[in-house]
Amino acid sequence: MTAAVRVLLVGASGRMGRAILDAAPSQAGVEIVAQQNRGDDSRDAISDCDVVVDFSHADATDAVCAACTEAGRPLVIGTTGHSAEQASRVSRAAASIPIVLAPNFSVGVNALFWLTRKASEMLGDGFDIEIVEMHHRLKKDAPSGTAKRLAEVACESRGLDYERDVAHGRTGLIGERPSNQIGVHAIRGGDVVGDHTVIFASSGERVELTHKASSRGTFAVGALRAAQWVVGRPPALYSMQDVLGLNDPAR
Ligand code: NAD
Repeated sequence: MTAAVRVLLVGASGRMGRAILDAAPSQAGVEIVAQQNRGDDSRDAISDCDVVVDFSHADATDAVCAACTEAGRPLVIGTTGHSAEQASRVSRAAASIPIVLAPNFSVGVNALFWLTRKASEMLGDGFDIEIVEMHHRLKKDAPSGTAKRLAEVACESRGLDYERDVAHGRTGLIGERPSNQIGVHAIRGGDVVGDHTVIFASSGERVELTHKASSRGTFAVGALRAAQWVVGRPPALYSMQDVLGLNDPAR
């Protein structure tokens, strides 16, 4: 029998950290051997683990990447809300260690990425694309990493530019909606784990693709699967589509 993959979990006391601790005992081949939270130094525990799983805060990612690079350990990043600079430092770290970076580890959302691209291609420019996400009131970043990825997929399929063509909410005298625009809207309230809807609206009809997560367990199981998968891979920046073995049409 092969030994279990030994995981250092960063952000262990958070909502996702607790979901991963709950899920791990029923996942064969993976074991949480160390936990860290705000104020801890990842370098302290890293030598005893095979892989680091990070669900903490975007500001922690630089230090986690540095510790993993220094120790030569693979990394799974579930944390969202990175700035462009933080994201590019993750890409640079992936030149020396394997990193799985995914805004959403659920199988269903990864199907939604694929379906969004397909629907966008099939329906064409005559359909306006709007993305609506809802999360619990304690979520710190907006829009969600998943909504951003959905908007990127829509931009890629339409030949649009995320920075130029994505409108985050609308207010005031905004005029008519340009056809080459993707709208993204973040709703916050209650204890919603994560809902995402992609709306394709044209004159006379509308298609809506919706995913609703009802338990953080689905993200936790996906992240632990990614942790097992990434050990022993060559250095690169991987997505959950790579972990799932999908031909990655959503990147
Ligand atoms: P949370 O606020 O409940 O927990 C965050 C944890 O990180 C806490 O334990 C906190 O102590 C720790 N932390 C905060 N700042 C830190 C720092 N600078 N250094 C080290 N640790 C730090 O948040 P959550 O709901 O568990 O979400 C955590 C992250 O995971 C968020 O970015 C969220 O968007 C993301 N998330 C990703 C997925 C996915 O599938 N990829 C799913 C759900 C949530």
